[in-house]
Amino acid sequence: MTYNKLKFGATIGIIGGGQLGKMMAQSAQKMGYRVIVLDPDNACPTQHVAHQFIHAAYDDEAALNELGEQSDVITYEFENINAEQLKKLTTRFNVPQGYEAIQLLQDRLIEKQSISKAGAHVVPFLQITSEDDLKEAGQRLGYPFIVKTRFGGYDGKGQVLVNSDVAFDEAKTLIAQQECVAEQYLNLKREVSLTVTRGVDGSVVFFPLQENEHRNQILFKTIVPARDDHEVFAREEVKKIMKAIHFVGTFTVEFFVDDNHQLFVNEIAPRPHNSGHYSIEACDYSQFDTHIMAVTGQTLPENIELLKPAVMMNLLGKDLDLLEDEFNLHPEWHVHIYGKTSRKPLRKMGHLTQLTEQIEATEQNLVAYFEGRKS
Ligand code: ADP
Ligand code: MG
Repeated sequence: MTYNKLKFGATIGIIGGGQLGKMMAQSAQKMGYRVIVLDPDNACPTQHVAHQFIHAAYDDEAALNELGEQSDVITYEFENINAEQLKKLTTRFNVPQGYEAIQLLQDRLIEKQSISKAGAHVVPFLQITSEDDLKEAGQRLGYPFIVKTRFGGYDGKGQVLVNSDVAFDEAKTLIAQQECVAEQYLNLKREVSLTVTRGVDGSVVFFPLQENEHRNQILFKTIVPARDDHEVFAREEVKKIMKAIHFVGTFTVEFFVDDNHQLFVNEIAPRPHNSGHYSIEACDYSQFDTHIMAVTGQTLPENIELLKPAVMMNLLGKDLDLLEDEFNLHPEWHVHIYGKTSRKPLRKMGHLTQLTEQIEATEQNLVAYFEGRKS
């Protein structure tokens, strides 16, 4: 069978020009592809590393068609693009990722239902549309529980933890604005994630299990290999999900481990993921390399090798304020700065990765820097 194997010199169109688009473009260019990016922000990070930039809203149909006409393949860096528009693009252009995964996963309710139907283990959840539903959630899920908007949430945005009357009112306000789901709040022992790439020919390659710590619901650090023994089970869960949802390219499944050592699927990102950034320096292929290989129809590597254990720390605006004068003193930090023009305390501005044989010591040292206890 022949697939859409693209020769070098072919053009990859990327919808979305944030840091994920930028790192995709860097991998693509290394392999000799041309890159066109579409983004509404005139100063988006990918613009400066792409051959061509289309300045347009994500739902600008004429601009999306222009991207398609100028590209040999279309990919995307984020899931909140309009699934109907993506579907239309699939009828005219080469979009190997399709639109189905986006359609299912951009809605938290459908996402959880699909994962559960696939036979994987999800955190108990309920659909919430009224105050009565909220009360029922308290009875069925117990307190505290967490209310999340069905659409558009990221980095903890659009979530309320309900454990008091005040939070109940906040949740009421949230559901008045948007449809929501309620989810049992777990006592987390750990969070892990599994990054996977699937080729157009159906071949699959797994990255090593990643251990993640969030602070303020934003990823703070990732450690690889994870200090956790769920890797085999996590792969089984992902295989079940892959049977139910059609993926091509790199995607990541986020998991929770509760205090009973049980593994639950949290959510799925149908694109390269923040917890896979360490792979740029620590693995023989990065998650962006394998993504580009997949969407251009190249044969994927059979395995991903972790060349050295790694700690990846996100650099939010506040971390940059604290640490930017330190960077030139630490050659062991592989620093990535995304090139966003406006810096905000909790905005992801970059990340750094340190390769190490002493994970615990490196982790403690880095955390001390990020907490301002070291300089
Ligand atoms: P986002 O789309 O913003 O990443 P998530 O659902 O992944 O949303 O939530 C962000 C973080 O909030 C999680 O990584 C976890 O640390 C915490 N969290 C979310 N849901 C739960 C839950 N049910 N129990 C415990 N912690 C949770
Ligand atoms: Mg998440």
